[in-house]
Amino acid sequence: MIHKRKLGEENRGIGMTSPGTRGRLVERLRAHGIRNDQVLKAIMQVPRHEFVDEALSSRAYEDTALPISRGQTISQPWVVAKMTEALLEGGAMQKVLEIGTGSGYQAAVLAHLVPQVFSVERIKELLRIARRRFHALGLHNVHVRHADGHLGWPSQAPFDGIIVTAAATGIPMDLLEQLREGGRLVLPLERDRQQRLLCLEKTAEGFEETDLGGVIFVPMLSGLE
Ligand code: SAH
Repeated sequence: MIHKRKLGEENRGIGMTSPGTRGRLVERLRAHGIRNDQVLKAIMQVPRHEFVDEALSSRAYEDTALPISRGQTISQPWVVAKMTEALLEGGAMQKVLEIGTGSGYQAAVLAHLVPQVFSVERIKELLRIARRRFHALGLHNVHVRHADGHLGWPSQAPFDGIIVTAAATGIPMDLLEQLREGGRLVLPLERDRQQRLLCLEKTAEGFEETDLGGVIFVPMLSGLE
């Protein structure tokens, strides 16, 4: 008989992936300035070890970025928390768009906070794995699409908020257009060879910018893989 392993089964009983370990990560994020309890609660609810290779699962609750396949990374938990917190400060959100599904972790955190999450990824293989994870975790409010995120997801616009999880070299204007007025675009932007995490709030005249500090993200690329 073939024994099919369910997601996570291999990690059961290993201390490094226990809820206690996850709780310590949440305390660390709080100590490092994350104030939004809803965001911290969502991070407590998402098993980050399910979003990395089994070989890395013992490091899943360290506050660091980790490699996923195809030369990409799962973002550092603090960065996920910071971006999510900045997004939610824009008020109640119904519909949020993420660019760069990657492992699916950021989308899974959003899925606990927002009724509808849309996520776009340009590497088909990553999307396939992420989709399986959403399904296994019962996250039925995450909708994914294989596309170039520079174009957003026009048929679902307008969004209350948009998070970009790869570093752009200019503000993607299509994304700004797909945001409702008062909505927020949170993205790492490369300027003078330095990446800054920005929060742009859309106004009637354009947008207001807040700089949230220096970050390191993989680059936002064009086209599909
Ligand atoms: N949010 C992810 C972070 C993954 S790293 C997580 O939580 O794991 C950034 C991802 O952005 C990569 O998977 C990369 O393939 C994707 N990406 C880069 N440029 C993109 C583009 N133009 N459109 C869609 N996805 C893109």
